[in-house]
Amino acid sequence: APPATKSLGELDGGARPHVMFIPSAGMGHLLPFFRVIAALAGHDVDISVVTVLPTVSAAEADHFSSLFAALPRVRRVDFHLLLFDASEFLGHDPFLLRWEALRRSAHLFRPLIDGAAPRVSAVVTDVTLTSHVIPIAKELGVQCHVLFVSCATMLSLLAYTPVHLDKKAEQGPGVGDVDIPGVRRIPQSYLPQPLLDLNKLFTKQFIDNGREIINADGFLVNTFDALEPVALAALRDGKVVPGFPPVYAIGPLRSQHNSPEVEKEEATGSPVAWLDGQPARSVVYVAFGNRNAVSRDQIREIAAGLEASGCRFLWVLKTTTVDRDDSAELTDVLGKGFLERVQGSGLVTKAWVDQEALLKHPAVGLFLSHSGWNSVTEAAASGVPLLPWPRGGDQRVNATVVVSGGVGVWMEHWSWDGEDWLVTGEEIGNKVKEVMSDAAIRARAMRTGEEAAKAVAEGGTSYRSMQQFISSLKTT
Ligand code: UDP
Ligand code: UDP
Repeated sequence: APPATKSLGELDGGARPHVMFIPSAGMGHLLPFFRVIAALAGHDVDISVVTVLPTVSAAEADHFSSLFAALPRVRRVDFHLLLFDASEFLGHDPFLLRWEALRRSAHLFRPLIDGAAPRVSAVVTDVTLTSHVIPIAKELGVQCHVLFVSCATMLSLLAYTPVHLDKKAEQGPGVGDVDIPGVRRIPQSYLPQPLLDLNKLFTKQFIDNGREIINADGFLVNTFDALEPVALAALRDGKVVPGFPPVYAIGPLRSQHNSPEVEKEEATGSPVAWLDGQPARSVVYVAFGNRNAVSRDQIREIAAGLEASGCRFLWVLKTTTVDRDDSAELTDVLGKGFLERVQGSGLVTKAWVDQEALLKHPAVGLFLSHSGWNSVTEAAASGVPLLPWPRGGDQRVNATVVVSGGVGVWMEHWSWDGEDWLVTGEEIGNKVKEVMSDAAIRARAMRTGEEAAKAVAEGGTSYRSMQQFISSLKTT
């Protein structure tokens, strides 16, 4: 549990704030919400969580259950989505479709917020819903904060993109590189791919949300000052967009209670048990997040690369975007021969793992990752070097932070989704071997890990930001 600070009720004699969280979909969005909720539950605050069932993935359902089991005082507020005809979006990512379904049902948040007892003092929404939730909160006279689940650099891109596009429209079609004032230039090839097409559903949401966020009361961001000093300063100084709301850098966020898979993992044969038997810093941990299906051909190259590297490895392999759909057998995907050859030195699993715990294990020496933002912050917190291999979305932007923040090294030219060439096993194997034996990279990652620990310790930058956020809840 977080250190018990002064009770806010005691501080000024006022009523306890009641915070209503409105998370979106996808584990990359839910986990940071759950971590903030658990941190806040240690304070004198009432908490409600808007919950949409059924969830898109099985992992989300498991984690909702364990949140409410671990924190019985946190209220579950059920939300029923309106029927959403997705036929015009055939082939879209199911999580993006859930965001859209939530956006189209968003007017129903109004009675939920308005009718809650005790009276809601603040809403904390996922960024994907902001353009709908902020106006509702304003109408009701309730504070509206955004829990931003990516990096501060990405937040600056979200805030600046509408400005950039307005300027760009005068010069002709196309998006081009985005030069974010005070932050950095983001080359067009690093942008989330859908942003290159203004008609894409993601782009419409991104622009609507980007225009509205200036009206938020504050941003909670899962980063820390030492990791992104430039982007945080530019946002706070109004260089990105004048008059930007307060930005509370409160990361790296951590789980406060055991994840649902801990018990399962304690069984022998689990990834943790397997890591226990490996030498210190000898294992490459490979995982591409919870919603990135790498192509079968690329999976075979990764397998060849890991084998050729001669390093031990733990590989969490997902073959579908939604875990419920995953019926592929490892032997079909990787071949029986590979699994036999690597037996003992490599472990491949399709199960949900407690990644945060795995990264803290002393046997892990490198993380080959898609650089989803939660994964980056978990690596940073553990001082484990990260070799980012972005697959899409914000992941190339995140990779720039991996490099600038000393978390790892990035092979910028490696292909991502939609590019029709494969990174060869030979190249993967060489790079993995090289980074595993690079003492300078390891030392830098460890220093970043120490900075992360300092940030969240009592008196640290993230600790103080969290205190400021909690104090701000009392100002209305
Ligand atoms: N995760 C996990 N076990 C898994 C897969 C994912 O614990 O088997 C966690 C991971 O630690 C991270 C989150 O799920 O906290 C994924 O978020 P991230 O931003 O890294 O990537 P996304 O999945 O959103 O692309
Ligand atoms: N995002 C945003 N505004 C939006 C929608 C998304 O800033 O309106 C961010 C979101 O935080 C995410 C990133 O854009 O980190 C890329 O989204 P993606 O589709 O890759 O999904 P995610 O990685 O969040 O699961």
